[in-house]
Amino acid sequence: MQYRKLGRIGKKVSALGFGCMRLPVIEPSGQINRKEAIRLIRKGIDNGINYVDTAWTYHRGESEVVLGLALKDGYRERVTLVTKCPVGREDFTSPDHFNKYLEEQLQRLDEKNVDVYLFHALNKKSFEEKVLGLNLIEEAIKTKKAGKFKHLGFSFHDKPEVLKEIIDSGHFELMLVQYNIIDQVNHEMINYAGKKGLAVAIMGPIGGGRLAGRDLPEEMKKWLSPSRDNFADLAFKFVLSNPNVSVALSGMGSEEMLVDNLEITSRDDVNQVTEREQKSIDSIAQRFKELCDNICTQCKYCQPCPNEVNISFIFEALQRYQIYGDREQAKRYYSMIGKVPWATGKDATACIECGECLEKCPQNIEIIHQLQKAHDILSR
Ligand code: SF4
Ligand code: SF4
Repeated sequence: MQYRKLGRIGKKVSALGFGCMRLPVIEPSGQINRKEAIRLIRKGIDNGINYVDTAWTYHRGESEVVLGLALKDGYRERVTLVTKCPVGREDFTSPDHFNKYLEEQLQRLDEKNVDVYLFHALNKKSFEEKVLGLNLIEEAIKTKKAGKFKHLGFSFHDKPEVLKEIIDSGHFELMLVQYNIIDQVNHEMINYAGKKGLAVAIMGPIGGGRLAGRDLPEEMKKWLSPSRDNFADLAFKFVLSNPNVSVALSGMGSEEMLVDNLEITSRDDVNQVTEREQKSIDSIAQRFKELCDNICTQCKYCQPCPNEVNISFIFEALQRYQIYGDREQAKRYYSMIGKVPWATGKDATACIECGECLEKCPQNIEIIHQLQKAHDILSR
């Protein structure tokens, strides 16, 4: 495993971090398969991962509980533990909610403190109205002095100019942003933050799994590295070749994913991109842009939909068609919604256009429009 400096926080963290947002689940309940999740997290740590990331919202609150269990038996001392303040929630309306939520999160984790506490999914509105408007920095300073966390940071979903504003506020030691071959919009701000000494953690290094698909169309196979059948290696190389990046988080819900990611991030050359690889990366970025205008990362922040539309699953099926060209399989997936335990809920026709999901999507996807489009394509 490669280890990199966590900005001015100074400690060394593993190039691969364990994101606890896509832990293995048991269908149809969707609850975490605790035994398997704990095994995977511990296997990751035993193989060199020392950065673990969760949040109040992940797996409807169960992620923090399961991570806490995984960190028993001496595992806590081996990691940098990160969780996130659900500042965007509608019921987060007062300065003392900062401490209230953190206390509850520490109880879920069964820990006295976390190493890094992030404001979750900041955008212009939540930064101005919540972080600044409710004087949460003052609350954070008090809570930090009380020993409940060591470093303050934020995760982010908005435009680069807003990101610059938050970096320049000078309140934070770490930022977590999306960055991958098919979404390079934060590139400049990552370098800007790095120069200012902020630690930079990356979410979605494999494009929410889109770069790890194994059944690539023939035309894309020419960009694969020798003896590989997906782009996960190039995806990590792209991210980790940026010296301003400290850690790339991957949500690893299976043994196969964990083993593959560990192998890639343990290579000596994972932070180097050759000329040939750079050409492949540029071609992949270009082709994905041409093929797919739906950038859903399957984060599920938009769900549950009050009308039970399985938004993320529908978009996964749409991407399957757009990127991998497999219309028949995409149609089959779409037709299974509501009929099999692993595709619960309803299809796009159940959307009543209430708009409740729109604000929750960190990618600002026009969900209603995309649902209609998916239905048009996949129901014919
Ligand atoms: S707009 Fe449609 S998909 Fe979104 S929350 Fe409302 S009913 Fe659900
Ligand atoms: S539509 Fe947006 S919020 Fe919903 S799963 Fe996709 S990226 Fe996440």
